[in-house]
Amino acid sequence: MTSPWDLDRSDLAELVGDQPRYRLDQLWAGLYEKGLPPHQISTLPKALRAELEQTHPPALSPAARQETADGMTVKRLWELPGGARVESVLMHYPERSTVCISSQAGCAMACGFCATGQAGFERHLSVGEILEQVIVARAEAAPRRLSNIVFMGMGEPFANYDRVMTAVRRIIDDLEIGARKITVSTVGLVPQMRRFAEEGLQVGLAVSLHAANDELRTELVPINKRHPIDEVIAASRLYRENTGRRVSFEWAMIDGVNDRDTDARELATVAKAARAHVNLIPLNPTPGWPTVGTKPERIREFASQLERDGVNVTVRANRGTDIDAACGQLRANHEAKPVTLRPRRNTPIAE
Ligand code: SF4
Repeated sequence: MTSPWDLDRSDLAELVGDQPRYRLDQLWAGLYEKGLPPHQISTLPKALRAELEQTHPPALSPAARQETADGMTVKRLWELPGGARVESVLMHYPERSTVCISSQAGCAMACGFCATGQAGFERHLSVGEILEQVIVARAEAAPRRLSNIVFMGMGEPFANYDRVMTAVRRIIDDLEIGARKITVSTVGLVPQMRRFAEEGLQVGLAVSLHAANDELRTELVPINKRHPIDEVIAASRLYRENTGRRVSFEWAMIDGVNDRDTDARELATVAKAARAHVNLIPLNPTPGWPTVGTKPERIREFASQLERDGVNVTVRANRGTDIDAACGQLRANHEAKPVTLRPRRNTPIAE
């Protein structure tokens, strides 16, 4: 625990101790309403500011920043205490903004097409380190309203389940962003998906599916070997039954790998079984991964085929192609010691 946003209201109350009650309100307003680091909360006495700065300095130090030519997508690389680095991405829309945040530094899931997965796992993020990404994004988005939070940055959120769930609850309660505006993604950790279904929250669940048969999915997403597709579909159905919220299946479109007519048919079958919405995502190029994203015309055909089969589908806009857009790529390109990205597969899968 290092970030000031690791401290919840009862921790802050303990910290101000016998001081007048308004001190707690000032501290709370500074940290959570204004999003200020302790040393900038000018309503607090100097001694308290100095103490907090000493014991709980902000965890995120800027290491790199990239912005698209239109200024609508901003990718940040942060250095955390201990030297681990994580990314967050702020996406602007005319009236509002969405931030994509990280839950772990690195990731142990080893998905071959992902720069983060290729570089391996470093450590879990604390609750405060997760919240701090939201706080900073909210300030940077202003005057736009930060309306949506997606846990789709570095790491597998459900591999850091307890901290992510605490962060989700605190985003709802302390930052007053509605549960329905938060989406947690998973590569398909079935026990945690089932637990998530029992949390009583209206948070969105996005499953990174990418393939709808076990052979291909195990190749793209190795954890599929432990939690095969049938189990992932059953857990997705449970989530829908318990929360009433439709699960989304994320599908990174990879040329010649998972964009064939047979893939669309298999995907339609499982999406209908789970009554899931499908998001098709043009794959951002990842260094070290020998395949490329599907061409836009083929993505449209694939989407049409799914629609004809009765599936609700959205083609996601590909943001940030003029920056290091793939997850983990900005970090890979700014390591003090360059990370060697090794392809998990050497040849595209044949028809
Ligand atoms: S795609 Fe997600 S789960 Fe897979 S390695 Fe990358 S960060 Fe981890």
